[in-house]
Amino acid sequence: MTSTHTPTDLELAAAAAVPSADELAGAWALQPHPNPASEAERAARLERLGFGVDFTDHMAHATWTVGDGWHNKVIEPYGPLSLDPAGAVLHYGQEVFEGLKAYRHTDGSVWTFRPTYNAARLNHSNRRLAIPELPHDDFVASIVGLVRADAQWVPDAPGSSLYLRPFIFASEAFLGVRASTSYEYLVIASPSGPYFQHGFQPINVWVEETYHRAGPGGMGDVKTGGNYAASLLPKVAAHGGGYDEVLFLDAATNTNLDELGGMNVFIVMADGSLKTPRLTGNILPGGTRASIIQLLREQGRSVSEETISLRWLLDAISAGDVAEMFACGTAAVVTAIGALTGEGFHVDIPENTVTRGIYDELTAIQLGEAEDRFGWLYRLA
Ligand SMILES: *Cc1c(COP(=O)(O)O)cnc(C)c1O
Repeated sequence: MTSTHTPTDLELAAAAAVPSADELAGAWALQPHPNPASEAERAARLERLGFGVDFTDHMAHATWTVGDGWHNKVIEPYGPLSLDPAGAVLHYGQEVFEGLKAYRHTDGSVWTFRPTYNAARLNHSNRRLAIPELPHDDFVASIVGLVRADAQWVPDAPGSSLYLRPFIFASEAFLGVRASTSYEYLVIASPSGPYFQHGFQPINVWVEETYHRAGPGGMGDVKTGGNYAASLLPKVAAHGGGYDEVLFLDAATNTNLDELGGMNVFIVMADGSLKTPRLTGNILPGGTRASIIQLLREQGRSVSEETISLRWLLDAISAGDVAEMFACGTAAVVTAIGALTGEGFHVDIPENTVTRGIYDELTAIQLGEAEDRFGWLYRLA
């Protein structure tokens, strides 16, 4: 059947071609670490894969100034930064970030997933925070340079990957409130195991009705630290209550599902169709979300992006119309939601077969075990 998928603005921006890794290699000059981790040390760290705790020998780094734009593009030894205490990011939070992964395929080659989607989204975030844009070629070249320098750090254990964290922050030493006149771009890399340590275990979600992560006209649809800062207090309370994650409602009406604050949500209906909150401007346009929508629509499944009220969801669950729910994002890929609890309600959602199938399909593409029908993979090394 023909595709019913209409690309989003980000997907259209991501469709612009970037050169191959061989063409981009060396564009960011390598300053080799004088004292990299020994083979034994690296092996020990690759044995005990956590998430975001260990880092590789190098990092990508560039600086932006008014006169020179992005310059000093290098792959340099990983290490602490020197920052003036008046650095703008420390006071006003002018910062954006991205998250993507490098996967080792069974033939030893190293690949990443839709890097230009992340490049386009970084610039979407940059525009909202009045940060200068970074060309897609620079974004991808920084990742190629870093992953090639630290290729031995890409793990191959099941469920593992090299998590890549690009970010930009305002570095000007100035306490006045305005956009900074200098910025630092970095990419750091962390060999990582599965995000949720207990494997494919449904998570227990607290539905938050007091606090919101973002509001209309705010920064909810961009990847910036401030949204996470706003989500931490309710997360701490939820963890204290025994919940794994928080589901946020929209700030304008406090009635509709937004997202998990780091993952997007989907509902699998008993008839096999799916629903996910439409992108209102308060929801981060996840690449995993977009990929799942395209994958399922291509298979002829109905996936609708709509306003989903908590009231409707709870009624649909008690009527038996909801079969499964899951959350998705680069870090955890796809995670079943096993229960929803909030003020005055608790519902169990025990099924997760469709969820598991989606997880298997997406990870099979990422790992090179299934055909890359949409050209999502990019070979790094
Ligand atoms: C990164 C992120 C997601 C998931 O996006 P992916 O591109 O799928 O990793 C969802 N919500 C928020 C708030 C995020 O920052």
